[in-house]
Amino acid sequence: MHAESPSQYARTNFSVGSKWVKHLSKDRLGTFLDGRYGDVNLGAVLFTERIDDSRHEQPSFEEAVKQEFVPIKKGTAFGPSCACFIRSYFTNHWVKVHLKIPSSWVKYERVQFEFDPSCEALIFDTSGTPLHGITGGYGGERRVEYVLSPEIRRKGSVDLVIEVSCNGMFGNGDMVASPDDNRWFNINSADLVVPNQEAWRLMWDFNTLRQLSDSLPGNHPLQNQALIAANKIINTFRHDDSTSISRARQVAEQVFGEGWEKKGDRIYKEGRGVVQVWGIGHCHIDTAWLWPYSVTQQKVARSWATQVDLMERFPEHRFCASSAQQWKWLEQLYPKLFDKVKAKVLSGQFHPVGGSWVENDSNMPSGEALTRQLIFGQRFFQSRFGLRSKTGWLPDSFGFTGALPQIIREADMPYFFTQKISWNNINSFPHTTFNWIGIDGSQVLTHMTPVGQSASPTWVDDVKRAIENNKNQESNDKALLVFGNGDGGGKRLRRIRAAANESRETLLPLVSMGSSVDEFYAAVEKETNEGKSLPNWHGELYLEFHRGTCIIKKGNRKSEILLREVELVATLASLQKHSYSYPKDDIDALWENLLLNQFHDVLPGSAIGMVYEDAERIYDEIARKGKKLTEDAIRVLIPSSISLPLEDGVLSELGKGRIFAVNTLHFSRKEVVTVPLIGPAVFVNSLKNEAVQVSRGGENGYVIVEVESGSMAPISLSLDTHTSRAQAFETPSGDFVLKNANIELKISKGRITSLYDVVIGRELIPEGRDGGLIIFEDKPLFWDAWDVEWYHLQTGRPLQFESPRIVETGPAYASIESIIKYDKSTIKVIISITALPATEIAGSRSNIRFDAEVDWRQRHEFLKFEIPLDIHHPTATFDTAFGNLTRPTHRNTSLDIAKFEVCGHKYADLSEYGYGLAILSESKYGFAAEGDILRISLLRSATAPDPIQDQGYNSFAWALLPHANHFYDSDVPLAAHLFNSPVHLRHVPDVVGVPAGIQMGLTHHGLITVEGARNVILETIKRGDDDDYSARWRSRDPTVILRLYEAYGGHAKTKIRIDSRIGVKKAALTNFLEDVKSELKLETAPSLDRPVGSDTEDTILSLNFRGFQVHTVKLTVAAHIAVSQLDGWINILRI
Ligand SMILES: [Zn+2]
Repeated sequence: MHAESPSQYARTNFSVGSKWVKHLSKDRLGTFLDGRYGDVNLGAVLFTERIDDSRHEQPSFEEAVKQEFVPIKKGTAFGPSCACFIRSYFTNHWVKVHLKIPSSWVKYERVQFEFDPSCEALIFDTSGTPLHGITGGYGGERRVEYVLSPEIRRKGSVDLVIEVSCNGMFGNGDMVASPDDNRWFNINSADLVVPNQEAWRLMWDFNTLRQLSDSLPGNHPLQNQALIAANKIINTFRHDDSTSISRARQVAEQVFGEGWEKKGDRIYKEGRGVVQVWGIGHCHIDTAWLWPYSVTQQKVARSWATQVDLMERFPEHRFCASSAQQWKWLEQLYPKLFDKVKAKVLSGQFHPVGGSWVENDSNMPSGEALTRQLIFGQRFFQSRFGLRSKTGWLPDSFGFTGALPQIIREADMPYFFTQKISWNNINSFPHTTFNWIGIDGSQVLTHMTPVGQSASPTWVDDVKRAIENNKNQESNDKALLVFGNGDGGGKRLRRIRAAANESRETLLPLVSMGSSVDEFYAAVEKETNEGKSLPNWHGELYLEFHRGTCIIKKGNRKSEILLREVELVATLASLQKHSYSYPKDDIDALWENLLLNQFHDVLPGSAIGMVYEDAERIYDEIARKGKKLTEDAIRVLIPSSISLPLEDGVLSELGKGRIFAVNTLHFSRKEVVTVPLIGPAVFVNSLKNEAVQVSRGGENGYVIVEVESGSMAPISLSLDTHTSRAQAFETPSGDFVLKNANIELKISKGRITSLYDVVIGRELIPEGRDGGLIIFEDKPLFWDAWDVEWYHLQTGRPLQFESPRIVETGPAYASIESIIKYDKSTIKVIISITALPATEIAGSRSNIRFDAEVDWRQRHEFLKFEIPLDIHHPTATFDTAFGNLTRPTHRNTSLDIAKFEVCGHKYADLSEYGYGLAILSESKYGFAAEGDILRISLLRSATAPDPIQDQGYNSFAWALLPHANHFYDSDVPLAAHLFNSPVHLRHVPDVVGVPAGIQMGLTHHGLITVEGARNVILETIKRGDDDDYSARWRSRDPTVILRLYEAYGGHAKTKIRIDSRIGVKKAALTNFLEDVKSELKLETAPSLDRPVGSDTEDTILSLNFRGFQVHTVKLTVAAHIAVSQLDGWINILRI
């Protein structure tokens, strides 16, 4: 029993005692900040002082270069948004401001300059140091105030320079549409203001309470408490009584805890001790999207300047930024700000993440390009800050190849972050934190933030989602809260402090601040028993969205192949000739530009038109400079040789000589090559003598070349009588036939009705079906250029090859041309076959090649090529970085249905036991395998954000490659490499004293060859990244890097043979960053092409692979090898 106390409960009651009307109490919160009541609600007291007249402030318009000043005032408009008459770019305007601060204002807690040009801007001091970013306008991302320091206020005046950029945070369109070129921006405010800080704090308190009330489940104690407190605040506040503000703030303490604000960042140390949500600032800055690269450079400066300012004011604040390219731009264009940021990196507050050059697309880049994304990124961070990232960071890329886990691990990163797969529009991805296991078995500890946005504007709702959307609570309950405004960078740190307060106790999870992304992953790793208690996801992370983006990528493919060749020939030349120095800086610069264009909104095709003007300029530059670097190196290897076809200006140089084919691939080839018959008559005539066929118009010769791996050979072979002959003819019934001894294709009534394997007598097209070009309607739901939706497949309309015409009749090369008029477009297709099989592998069949030139004028239509096959298998195989992956041909489940349009690189293959057919591609990346139909996607015609996507002239090629045996026993990957890397033709003049060119031959063995396994591809030969190029090897021995991968998905035991002349001193296995993992044993074997009796020996390295494994081998070679021309890598000898 406890002591009785008299009850205070009143005997009578005459009050109303109304129960609250909860929804009205909630709705009422909207009136507290609302503009309708702006003169009597909290809005009325937010500013103590405001000066906006020209007596105190003299903004001037400055043309940055000319230094001419024009007075401007509020209401002045900047524009137009695009200076399209000069060059397609958003315009910039420079403003100089002189601020005079009244001496009486020293007493105030804060004075700020409020500048709202209604677009983006950057405030500099007069020495050019960026101070703060501005996001004008009245959107949720608005940030228009620059807080003046106490020194400035004491001094009483300050001069500032502002760069006003005529674009909003999302460019000048509406997210999807193309930009408005004639948008103007008004100066809404240019005021010196004294904010009433306590009133602002009350507003932030109130907003946090309102969020709690809006976001938490109805009738939860905390939700009710927040709602009651917010209503009490409204009741307490009087706009004409400044003391009411502090009383109202005390009401908020009932929820946030007494004295919570004074605790500052110590608040994170309190509470239950178990932190589930790790907060870190980030703003996802798209390297280009609805704005060009140049605008991104400004966005980086604006956003990061603001972060440095926030770090001064909020010691717990940490911020992470990816993309070494953005850091490099900052270093080049804003060196003073870079130094400030660097200081914050070194103090541990500002974190480089991701280790990549840009946040690249990860479907389309080649394996080597993906490695370079990480090599260039990690090396940049290491060189500037002495650190590497531990976490791969691709929050926004449109799906992830199954090769990526291995690539990330090889770049010294165990962790991976994304969120994009949450955008799936058919299936919900089942995991938040998981082991992502790639095609080769490598794993990365992956977290896909349950908050669901790449850079969330942080609010109570996000903290809540961090827990509620976590799909692996049973194995790991931690979540990364990456907060901030995307593409502009704002923060709401104070709200996090309020939301982090432990006195709210139970419902909201605790948020921690002050850690890095890497620390978050390390904690997850530790708590999940090194990931062993986490679920696994195998293979690609397929994004069920943005599928329509894989098709306009010719510049990327051509540049990747060109840079591969540049590195190969430059490496050989650098080893051969002392006076030739490997052009490392030039090659790196080209790589950096190629990597830049692989940004996840550029390469996929989802950016505005002016981005593609930049991108095409970059591809042109890579082509031009890459060609020159190749030429410089080949001239070292084969002095005085000339590249064919001839360019203007070199005709006169051309004397007698021979034509050679250079094979940059590491497998041998025999094929028909087209040589344009241009040049002096004597040259053309000698070439005609070598040709096995001259085109009917006389403009081309067709010659046969046989070249060993990685070497060069003269084109002098003839078609022997046993070789199949290519033919093209029209049958009496009007059908057109292309055939040779192994394959025959028939076009009947404009469609491919028969594809016949002559060798085994098998028809590949099912009875009554046909293949050819096909048009689909293409009207996705929202993101025009990004998406293609599954319902487009219901709208297919086959096109006919109109009026076919036989162009070449063989025997080396036969072709049929068709010109198709479709609506406003014209499609010219040449279908051809040669006498030879696709590869030198026994039993190889021939390619049937399609070369298209298209004048494309369609809108919202999708051009594809399809072929139905009498081949049945539940999966089809697609080329990807460093390997391949299979995807279903059926649509059993919704996961299968979602894969109606998929990405592949050089081939897509449908095989069953004993037979298959591949489509080869040299520039397209979109494919589909639907039942027994194989398709390649050729052209789209979205109108937003680029209104002229794919419009006008396009040229591209693809091929059909039938093959005996299943894909695994086929020559498809080799044929696809050959299709993508044609031989280089060179004219080699006769040397003085050497008989006529006809008598010149060539010794040829590739200098580095792979023996013992045809499933291993030698992808890259380059010089080491850490070689001393300036001193020409004096300080250390040169190194050569080889990158090889297993291409089919099975084990391989190989021997790498390295020619004795390279002089290998040491060999090691390394990761991509060229850190040595283990030394390799050097073995030897007699050289292949040395005279009998000679004791020269090649170096042999034994290398084993598991399926899809990538190996990087670092060879340390002799510092200098004296080689004469006749002892060089490519020897031209008299026979
Ligand atoms: Zn993005």
